[in-house]
Amino acid sequence: MSSGLAAGAAARSGVPQGHHVHGLLALGAEVLEGYFPGLRAEPEQAGAPVWDWGEGLCAVLPEGTPAPMPMGMPIQTFSRPLLEHVLRGRVTGLEAVTLRDGPAVTGLLTAGPGRVTGVRVKGSDGEDEIVADLVVDAWGRSSHLPQWLGSLGLPSRKTAYHRLPRWPHGLIALGDSVCTFSPAYGQGMTIAAPEGRLLEQMLRSRRNGTPLDGQGFQKGLARLTAFSWLMATIPDRAWKRPGPAWPVKAGNWFMDRLIDTVPHDPRTYTAFSQLFHMTAGPLALADTPALPRPHRPPPGREHSVDQGLTSPWVPARHRPRPPAARRQQFRRSGSRCSRGAGSRGRRRASPGTAPSPPRPRGRPGG
Ligand SMILES: Cc1cc2nc3c(=O)[nH]c(=O)nc-3n(C[C@H](O)[C@H](O)[C@H](O)COP(=O)(O)OP(=O)(O)OC[C@H]3O[C@@H](n4cnc5c(N)ncnc54)[C@H](O)[C@@H]3O)c2cc1C
Repeated sequence: MSSGLAAGAAARSGVPQGHHVHGLLALGAEVLEGYFPGLRAEPEQAGAPVWDWGEGLCAVLPEGTPAPMPMGMPIQTFSRPLLEHVLRGRVTGLEAVTLRDGPAVTGLLTAGPGRVTGVRVKGSDGEDEIVADLVVDAWGRSSHLPQWLGSLGLPSRKTAYHRLPRWPHGLIALGDSVCTFSPAYGQGMTIAAPEGRLLEQMLRSRRNGTPLDGQGFQKGLARLTAFSWLMATIPDRAWKRPGPAWPVKAGNWFMDRLIDTVPHDPRTYTAFSQLFHMTAGPLALADTPALPRPHRPPPGREHSVDQGLTSPWVPARHRPRPPAARRQQFRRSGSRCSRGAGSRGRRRASPGTAPSPPRPRGRPGG
């Protein structure tokens, strides 16, 4: 599964999404930089520029385009194999780390349903067993853990592991294996970084080498991801039929209002960006005009509450198209970034899609 590690910054079969450009949001970059100081500099030298979200992003929103402004939010986009290559170099440089490239994990070793003691692996030289104090399922979206837990008699519907009444010792799961965010918002790697930090903190806080509380970890992970998951999935829930529940309608109404305020109010733009980058919680919106006050949706926008159609998170192909004249004007402007051009239709730009970096400013190879 992990074949091709020796090949340097090349795509691997175990990570099919590796062919897509990846962006690392502010929190993810901050956490990784904390563990590996100077990490950003390595891909930068290889041609992946670091740029400021506020200055470099051009967000075309229905009510306009926010004016560029410095936000102190450094962003980096790169090919996924490049990031993996740089990270792998740092991790394998650690004395305690040994890398086994090639064998795929085919199952868990257990001592009854309550204890995981290692993994079974299969590689080109046959099958083997690896005994471990702790097994971490970081197998991404192709994880087989639900089936393996099922065979231990631990029913595992979906991956709401934190709700299972029992959880085996010696096992935890994180990353896409537990919680797979929509790739459209570019949050997956960023949310995985604080999950790794949670693991580190829990391992450090154990007394006298006592086993890790795996169930406690899964509950902590669920708390860590809850708000971002809610933000990312509320628009999708609007498609539920016979009709979304009122909290979903309210959530989408608020999102619409928030997005419409962003182009006109720098504080809201900053707060929204911090929320999106997970460097701040919902309190960042306090004292911004986006917070609900007695308000009615503007005429013609009422349907957005019922259908979520104007939500920024709804895929473009599902959104109502702007009138033909406006589309023409949009095309004539010849720019996807010119302020206000074609921006007042019902088009919603997903601010989360892995952003393109701005034109390099004199950096070699950018
Ligand atoms: C099209 C697309 C674009 C995306 N763009 C972005 C983006 O711009 N920014 C962002 O933050 N996120 C993005 N994501 C999401 C991001 O790729 C994932 O959220 C992130 O990689 C999850 O990390 P992970 O470690 O959990 O899993 P992965 O990165 O998928 O890693 C899983 C690893 O487990 C190995 N593996 C799997 N099964 C086995 C096994 N049985 N035995 C041994 N090894 C195994 C694989 O080889 C791989 O190395 C995107 C996703 C997609 C699909």
